[in-house]
Order: sequence, then C-alpha cells, then structure tokens
Amino acid sequence: MKTKKSTILLIYTGGTIGMVKDYKTGSLKAFDFDELLSNIPELNQLDCEIETFSFDQPIDSSNMSLKHWLQIASVIEDNYHNHDGFVVLHGSDTMSYTASALSFLLEDLAKPVIFTGSQLPIGDLRTDAKENLITSIQIAALKENGKPVVQEVGLYFEYKLYRANRTTKINAEHFEAFSSLNHPPLVESGVHLKVFKENLFRPKTAKKFFVHKKMDNNVAVLKLFPGLSPKVLQSVLQIPGLKALILETYGAGNAFTEDWFLEELKNAIKNNLFIVNVTQCSGGSVIMGQYETSKAMLDMQVINGKDITTEAAIAKLMYMLGVGVTTKSFKTIFETPLRGEMS
Ligand code: ASP
Repeated sequence: MKTKKSTILLIYTGGTIGMVKDYKTGSLKAFDFDELLSNIPELNQLDCEIETFSFDQPIDSSNMSLKHWLQIASVIEDNYHNHDGFVVLHGSDTMSYTASALSFLLEDLAKPVIFTGSQLPIGDLRTDAKENLITSIQIAALKENGKPVVQEVGLYFEYKLYRANRTTKINAEHFEAFSSLNHPPLVESGVHLKVFKENLFRPKTAKKFFVHKKMDNNVAVLKLFPGLSPKVLQSVLQIPGLKALILETYGAGNAFTEDWFLEELKNAIKNNLFIVNVTQCSGGSVIMGQYETSKAMLDMQVINGKDITTEAAIAKLMYMLGVGVTTKSFKTIFETPLRGEMS
C-alpha cells in the first residue's frame, strides 16, 4: 500500500533568503514569494506536497514584532489539521526570538514547525538557502510509525536542527550562524539525516493543541557592565507599566554587591516587578548563591533564569504576562521548563 505523502505548509515572512539588491540604494530588500519559489525548481522533486503562505509584505526580520508572531501562530492554527508540518522562512537576525516566542504560543504542539533562512539570497550562486530550505522541508516531513518525528519548534541552519528556544545568532558572516550551547542538536544532516531521538522534546502528557493569542511586552533587558551608572538602573526601573526585567548578569549569574544596586532591586521586587537573572554567557547556567556576588539576589527572591537564553527569556516573560500568571506562582512557573527551554 502506498503511504500518503506529507503535506507541508511553507510560510514566508521575509529575510535574506528571498532578498534582491535594490540597484538604486545598493541595499538588500525582500522580494516576492513567487520569485523565490521559481529560484528553487528542486522543490518539485521532493516527495511531499508543498503549500505556501506568504506575508503580504515580506520583511527584514529586524522589523519583526508581536503582531507578526501572533500572525504566524494563527496561520499555523488555521492549517494545523490539514498539514503534517510547517517550515517558516524568516530572516536570521531575529529568528531565535520569533522561534522562541512560537514555542510558547503553540501549546501541546505535536507537529514540526521548522524555522530556517539563509545568509545569502536564494538567487546568489554561493547561496546557503537551497540546502537550508530543502532539508528543513525534509525534516518537517519525517515520520515514524505514522507520527511526526519532530514535535516541537526547531531551527535549521547549516546542517543542524536545534531546539529553537535554545538558539542564539552568533555570527553575521559564517553560514553556521546559530549556536545552541546548552542543548545538543536534534538532527544532523550529512549523507543521511541523523535524528538524535534522546534530544527531542516529548511532553509528558498528550493534550490538545492550543494556540495562545496574547503576549505582553512590558518587559526590559538590562545588560550589566562594569561602571553601570545608578542613573541607568533607576531609569529602567521607573519605566511606567514595566512588569518584568531581565538582568543579564556575569558568568554564573553574578552582579555588583554595592548597596545602591541591591537596594534598587529589593525595592523593585517589593513593588511587584519580576526580576530574572540570565547570564550574559552563551553557554552554562546561572547558579545563584555559588558566589557571594549572587547570594543577595538569591535571598531577595530574584527569579533564576538557569540556562535559558535571553531570547527565550524575553519570549517566556511576554507569554507568561500575556497568559496572566499570578504574582504568587510567577517565580515557580518561570523556573520550570515549559517547552524544553531550560534544563
Ligand atoms: N537582515 C536579514 C534579516 O534578518 C538577515 C538574514 O535574513 O539573515 O531579515
């Protein structure tokens, strides 16, 4: 008996993959989806049905916003039951942010959502776009015993599929533009596609797929650096309506022990601001209390970001604030992995 071909929805949001040079300005700008598809006749050789959806106005991912994230989520919701997998073409600059956000918005996802893009436009002779796109579609179509192999939001770039909410863009030049230092790859592409089953996300209980519709952007990030002026911290803490602040700390979650700093944090927490400790390092974890320079934050109940990336922390905060998680359970829920975003 012939098995039914997988049906994949290709969602085009923009990014270098589909850009051309504007001859007047010399800058790269997004172009039409049909033109992009005509540059990859190889798609017709794939053993799956490909359907497409394009943003009316494809964008450089620097212009991504909450509105776009919710739009991608609702396109996936509308097409969830009649497609086996989704491939999202997206600029690499903010891909880790969007893909992290989608991992939270799509609750109890049981199908693959693979983000990909490229460093060179698809029309360029040396482009990395074709391999990224073709392999992403193949991964999205992978099945075992009739079930999708990948059942989470992934990010595929330069021969590796990562869990999206573990990634960070680390290079603006190399084809290998992303890293995931705190979680190993899910799939590697060589002569064969090698799936590392032990690294895949599998929820403990199978529940019905649900798409969240709200995110709250009353969040800020403050990266610590030696010499940070008290005025800077004070102005951030006085932002009207601010609900959560990510402190990007040093190493294993360390920060200044000066009184002015600790007093400001203490008062902010007393006034119901959620403060999350996330390390500036791309690998490793916050361990509050390991050094004296994080002990005071541990004592004042700063939220432990553990080994989460800043990208995923922003997305998780916007999601949790959108859902309306109560003050009482906020710290516990943030410190619990919801979509495999922390260890
Ligand atoms: N500026 C582009 C974007 O993020 C870069 C890329 O696609 O790689 O849309």
